Amino acid sequence: MPLLDVPHTLCQSCRQCCHFFLPPEMTPFASREESGHLPPEFHPTKEPIALLVGTREGFPVSTCSRLEESSFSCRSWPEHPLDCRIYPLVFTIEQGEPFIALDTTCPYAAEKPASWFQEKAMELRDRYWNAWTIEHKKALCQQFALDTFPERRLLLRLDTFLP
Ligand code: SF4
Ligand code: SF4
Repeated sequence: MPLLDVPHTLCQSCRQCCHFFLPPEMTPFASREESGHLPPEFHPTKEPIALLVGTREGFPVSTCSRLEESSFSCRSWPEHPLDCRIYPLVFTIEQGEPFIALDTTCPYAAEKPASWFQEKAMELRDRYWNAWTIEHKKALCQQFALDTFPERRLLLRLDTFLP
């Protein structure tokens, strides 16, 4: 089930997600060649997730193969990857430490108070992060480090698990 429940009507008018500028960042972890030992929530259906190279408004982009462009719907919904289900919350790295942050480039980030996203970040930590193994967390941090979110707002520092 979606954690944040961004209204589909908002996404249909925005259509910012599921397309990625090249070189691709912020792609679903399961679409990456070196995705490593990730928790199963990041690829629950096991259906292949590829990035299809093309253009959008004149710019080169890659588009997730699970996207149904005409309706702007995900073919894997409601079992799409966790990193898609939690957006605009994102996992990120700040000075070597894992955090949950809010990507303020998503219009939904302005529709709820900061305290609401803070509560969701804590729910995400308690339900998922705290349940993952150290191997899972190490594999995830390698992926977090590949992404940049220049307009992110840090919400919650996650535990330091490395010895
Ligand atoms: S940026 Fe936000 S509103 Fe836009 S498509 Fe993505 S989740 Fe939906
Ligand atoms: S898996 Fe679905 S929600 Fe995630 S990027 Fe692909 S189309 Fe979008």
